[in-house]
Amino acid sequence: MEILKVENLCKTYGSGENEVKALDNVSFTVQKGEFIAIIGPSGSGKSTLLHILGGVDKPTSGKVYMDGNDVYKQNDEQLAIFRRRQVGLIYQFYNLIPVLNVTENITLPVLMDGQEINESRLNELLDTLKLKGRENHLPNQLSGGQQQRVSIGRALMNAPAVVLADEPTGNLDSKNSQEIIDLLKLSNQKYNQTLIIITHDENIALQADRIIAIEDGKITRDEVINR
Ligand code: ADP
Ligand code: ADP
Repeated sequence: MEILKVENLCKTYGSGENEVKALDNVSFTVQKGEFIAIIGPSGSGKSTLLHILGGVDKPTSGKVYMDGNDVYKQNDEQLAIFRRRQVGLIYQFYNLIPVLNVTENITLPVLMDGQEINESRLNELLDTLKLKGRENHLPNQLSGGQQQRVSIGRALMNAPAVVLADEPTGNLDSKNSQEIIDLLKLSNQKYNQTLIIITHDENIALQADRIIAIEDGKITRDEVINR
């Protein structure tokens, strides 16, 4: 089943002589449950692509369909709901709220959505992410690996269909990196959740089902490597 479809995506920043074409006519489709690694040099458009898939950054032209729905046809309020429920974003530097504890950071998207917290789901996540006993800690009382596990909790709390991670291990040593990837793979396999990771780490890219390489805003390689 097709979960994502990207059609002729273009993104231009600035104008005149400052114009940067970050994405240049990018098209591909993603099947539900796929694990995709996006690779490519710095500045090639990877983050821009991920942000557009996540409903964070509007394309200049082209379409993104999630589960058959035209993402950028939605109004701002619908788009905000899309970001909280349909996708889970994970960043290199965690992007946690410093004054909120572990539980509060994880449940923030649920609360912002005006929903009740599913306590059994929260408990299962705290357990899986090995954050039991850390519920009341603030981000600065946690290691980098723990902080990234909190940000995974926040991304997964609403059980999104698609998880989007922008160099989630870029700030971690190799042991913590593999632990983070294993947690993301677990959710990918257990729930057939779609996983798209930007990475510079070849070891991580080679664990994916499929590799998409981007250079200068264009797809230069799109290859199924496992499965
Ligand atoms: P990558 O993730 O592959 O490093 P990015 O998507 O971050 O690449 O950036 C692609 C290009 O778009 C780069 O040239 C970058 O400088 C430019 N760019 C990204 N975001 C912005 C922005 N908000 N304003 C202007 N230029 C940007
Ligand atoms: P479907 O639409 O396939 O019936 P659900 O509505 O149960 O599936 O869930 C939507 C998506 O959320 C699933 O495709 C899966 O990727 C993900 N998902 C479901 N349950 C969980 C969970 N407990 N943890 C993480 N992701 C989940």
